[in-house]
Amino acid sequence: MSTTGTTHGTATNHDATPSPDPTPDPTPAATPAHDTDVLVVGAGPTGLLLAGDLAAAGLKVTVVERRPAGRSNLTRAFAVHARTLEQLDARGLADELIATGTTISALRLFGQLSLDLSGLQTRFPFLLITPQYEVEHLLERRALSAGVDFRYGTELHALRQDADGVTAELTGPDGADEADGADGTDGIHGPVTVRARYLVGTDGVRSAVRTALGLPFPGASVIRSIVLADVRLDEEPDKLLTVAASPSGDTFAFLAPFGDGWYRVMGWDRRRQVADDEPVELDELRSIARRALGRDYGMRDARWISRFHSDERQAPAYRAGRVFLAGDAAHVHSPAGGQGMNTGLQDAANLSWRLAAVLRGTARDPEAVLDGYQTERHPIGARVLRTSGAIVRLAMAHTPLQRFGRNLATRVIGSVRPVADRAIGQISGIGIGYGPGTRRVPDLKLREGRLHELLRAGQFVLVTPEDPEGATPDLPGTAPVTDGGLIRATWANPARRDTLLVRPDGYTTAL
Ligand SMILES: Cc1cc2nc3c(=O)[nH]c(=O)nc-3n(C[C@H](O)[C@H](O)[C@H](O)COP(=O)(O)OP(=O)(O)OC[C@H]3O[C@@H](n4cnc5c(N)ncnc54)[C@H](O)[C@@H]3O)c2cc1C
Repeated sequence: MSTTGTTHGTATNHDATPSPDPTPDPTPAATPAHDTDVLVVGAGPTGLLLAGDLAAAGLKVTVVERRPAGRSNLTRAFAVHARTLEQLDARGLADELIATGTTISALRLFGQLSLDLSGLQTRFPFLLITPQYEVEHLLERRALSAGVDFRYGTELHALRQDADGVTAELTGPDGADEADGADGTDGIHGPVTVRARYLVGTDGVRSAVRTALGLPFPGASVIRSIVLADVRLDEEPDKLLTVAASPSGDTFAFLAPFGDGWYRVMGWDRRRQVADDEPVELDELRSIARRALGRDYGMRDARWISRFHSDERQAPAYRAGRVFLAGDAAHVHSPAGGQGMNTGLQDAANLSWRLAAVLRGTARDPEAVLDGYQTERHPIGARVLRTSGAIVRLAMAHTPLQRFGRNLATRVIGSVRPVADRAIGQISGIGIGYGPGTRRVPDLKLREGRLHELLRAGQFVLVTPEDPEGATPDLPGTAPVTDGGLIRATWANPARRDTLLVRPDGYTTAL
């Protein structure tokens, strides 16, 4: 690791909106050697999936994480959607994750509206309820075994970039023992710089990377004074996921199991809108639960209780030269619909193959391949903000006009099949594509096995009919990669005569 460096921007908080400076300095005074191919900042679910993919592709990957080794990220997410499970299946992790939780085939959104997921055309026609830390444990284990260099207790403060790489300024804890990485290696001690070919900010909603780039995070608070607690219950709920709003729209509550006897409870009360640092007692949550759910299930023994607010914000750019943003660092919205972690994981899956193709030299047009991340993922982030915003506003509807809107939405989604299918497709991620020619590919049956099993190699898969002459079909010149990054497969169904190029993230590429 190098030990000096000039800072380009300084991290403050996400409200700061300095003017964007995404252009790398083309004439750096000196371009020191790279310490790593990709520096991933933040070991939440997004950073862990990305780092594991890149290391599995044979790249040198360093993850820096502010938390000390062994201290788990705060569990916020409980819902893992079908498309995320497909991505995990394409990494050999889905079945193991499913074993940690429970599946449900209907998702309650607001009022009486519940979406039936059982008809989804996927190996995973359900919602998996499992705490976020289970997802993180699996992804961290995979990343470690792929050779990722974890530096816990290490924080990014600033970065600068030039035509050849990115220099990050970091501080680690003093004292060798505290700084040990999850793999037992020493962490970074004191202030240092690390030089990487590319850097990805997966450092959450207050992203220091985003701030160091000078990118704003425009948006607003969508819901304030949500109370959240981890409790035990005297009465077990009859549903796995309990979520309801009072008919007046003045309260709503949510209850989900950790699976070990503890429950996460969340509640909101229109009549008590106070700042995040206002003290909170379990009685407040009991009272919300009684009004929203009809009972408080005898909640007791809160091991943790807090008050928070939820923002709807999105960075205008996900790429600035050699630096990328993914996950909550790029977009944040209310927990309604359980989409934040899922969207971050899809960002990571979209970005990892691009960086791998460019760094391994198999991308035909590296700049176009990297730009595709912003082109594809930014509109999806914007759509997720709209969907979760609509869900939360409909759940909180309280004026007669708003309640009329909620009843209408409930009736339309509940009775018009194409509208329901569209909503289910968006929320589960199964219906998300990136425009004509770039659609999700289901888990096809191929002569060589299931598509998602073949994708575990992290390569493009070219599916063709069998050639009676036994010839190997050429990769079309319009493909974004050269032959070096490719697996060939044959349709199991001999009637299929078309050719399909599947990207490592399970989407087709227009040929
Ligand atoms: C109450 C609640 C319920 C939710 N429920 C769901 C749900 O059911 N389903 C769902 O999909 N999503 C849900 N979400 C959202 C989900 O939790 C987040 O979207 C997800 O954690 C984002 O993952 P991430 O990896 O992008 O960021 P984070 O999980 O925030 O990880 C960022 C990491 O970066 C580290 N870091 C920060 N700054 C630095 C720095 N300068 N240097 C080094 N490291 C740094 C942090 O310590 C952290 O570990 C919920 C959110 C809330 C608040």
